[in-house]
Amino acid sequence: MALSDYEPVIGLEVHCQLKTRTKSFCACPVVFGAPPNSAVCPVCLGYPGVLPVLNREMVTLAMRVALATGSEIQERSVFARKNYFYPDLPKGYQISQLDRPLAVGGHVPVRTSGGERPIRLSRIHLEEDAGKLMHEFPWDDVPTGASLVDLNRAGTPLIEIVSEPEIRSGDEAWDYLNRLRRIVRYVDASDGNMEEGSLRCDANVSVRRKGAVPLGTKVEVKNLNSINHVRKAIEHEVERQAGTLDRGGAVVQETRLWHPETGTTRPMRSKEEAMDYRYFPDPDLGTLEVDGEWKQGVAESMPELPDARVARLVLQYGLPLADADTICLSRPLADWFEAAALAHPSNPKGVANWLLSELLSRIGDADRQAGRVPLAPAALARLVARIDDGTISGKIGKELLPLLIDSGKDPDELIREKGLVQVTDEGEIRGVVEGVVGANPQQAAAFRAGKTQALGWFVGQVMKASGGKANPAIVNRLLKERLEQG
Ligand SMILES: [Zn+2]
Repeated sequence: MALSDYEPVIGLEVHCQLKTRTKSFCACPVVFGAPPNSAVCPVCLGYPGVLPVLNREMVTLAMRVALATGSEIQERSVFARKNYFYPDLPKGYQISQLDRPLAVGGHVPVRTSGGERPIRLSRIHLEEDAGKLMHEFPWDDVPTGASLVDLNRAGTPLIEIVSEPEIRSGDEAWDYLNRLRRIVRYVDASDGNMEEGSLRCDANVSVRRKGAVPLGTKVEVKNLNSINHVRKAIEHEVERQAGTLDRGGAVVQETRLWHPETGTTRPMRSKEEAMDYRYFPDPDLGTLEVDGEWKQGVAESMPELPDARVARLVLQYGLPLADADTICLSRPLADWFEAAALAHPSNPKGVANWLLSELLSRIGDADRQAGRVPLAPAALARLVARIDDGTISGKIGKELLPLLIDSGKDPDELIREKGLVQVTDEGEIRGVVEGVVGANPQQAAAFRAGKTQALGWFVGQVMKASGGKANPAIVNRLLKERLEQG
């Protein structure tokens, strides 16, 4: 038996923090990095006698994600209390949705070796976040080994997006999460930042013999703090489970934690596998009704979705699919590109090439996501236009780029200032050609004797002598004429 004899069956549960101003059921602000317990009130602290008031914006943002994934928004859904005890949950229950979620169905397409395939969603439901336990802190008056509780996060709006177990590899999970993250960002529902915890993912992983119908025993993998970790953890877990079965063992149903330092999963202290949360409908909130008008309003406010935008960029600007896909990584980046492309409409492909090869390589992922390109769209458009109209060569353009970025000047101004206008005057270039050929009679003789690659050497010399400003096409032509003359 080998790994290839087994089929991985993977489902992902993604918790996504919604970008509301205030919490789910109170008016406390949603803040990241504020002093501990500075954004709390009796409602999110779970004091007795308080009443929750549903944040309408939370539902609206969740509906945007549902519409973007083709998930069907339910006219009526129900909040339920999930009861358990933990120090970060002062109420003793989390408000969530169980058997009547906000939205059901939908899909996220993933790229596989066999083309694109939709991964179906089983549901999208609303819930509130818990607080946070702190195990490390900057204060030295805390006894060793103690943990402190910060409840700023308690009550923060979340959605949980649950996929069907249709993912078949770590790569597919990686693509699924990237696509999902792009969607929640495009519709402005979430920052989608896994490192900061606004996107969190648990993976349900099992394997079965290829061709077998019954599902294998499922293991839940937690502590996946980046999309790359999800991929690695799944790959490891699939191998571990297949290896166990191969040796005649049995996979234990359990929750395992991913340990990035060792690249392995280890069982979490197994306390309760079948924990009884004693769900029941929250009597203070009851049924959530979404009428046609609300849904219509949200539908009308939806932006162009990422896949549609990629397709449009291919069509409208003639970009290769992969380039359009990279540019549509985030809405601000795609907006940046379109502003530049529209400023130089005769060569959008050239603009895209410069953006992809020269500009994006200078910035990290966070800046790409935020569209923080270190040059104004109009400046890149102008630069490409000056190359296209022959004012400067592409080589000079590349040299100019860091100066443009540093100075923030207009390309035309900088070209004038630096005296970089390309020389297209044939008389002038011919003069340089004469000088170079005259000074190198041996090379010239070699060329005439059939060593044609000497031409390239001469071009380099002439370009150098002209300070890189001579038009290369003219240099080539004049050199050839001159050398063939003898
Ligand atoms: Zn509060």
